[in-house]
Amino acid sequence: MAKYQVKGSCGHDYEVRLFGSYDDRRKRLEWLATQPCAECRRAAQQPEFSITFEGDAAILVGVRRCFEIKEQLKNRGWRFDGATKTWRFRGDYPALKAELEFILEQGWSLDDDCEKFVEALLAS
Ligand SMILES: [Zn+2]
Repeated sequence: MAKYQVKGSCGHDYEVRLFGSYDDRRKRLEWLATQPCAECRRAAQQPEFSITFEGDAAILVGVRRCFEIKEQLKNRGWRFDGATKTWRFRGDYPALKAELEFILEQGWSLDDDCEKFVEALLAS
């Protein structure tokens, strides 16, 4: 067994422990270099949300991987928008805040715009 430093295709460096013959390890290292690191793979599989503004209404939008959680969203009052193929939640600020808290509790991710909105919301 030996430890190796790998740079994933995402650009992150991380350490792996590899077993087996020198040849197997070399092949495994070559393959790992073509893959994103574990953290980025996990992040890529999370649902991700954004925020958009229409007039003075703020609307939460499920931008990625929301199909698997559609029942949960539907039960919480989200609606699917066929035109943009996104799940959307429209509500007043307390309702939006509750949804954002729910999203964060689930460990789902927010894009940068949504992060900024959350910071402003929590500061207000
Ligand atoms: Zn990475």
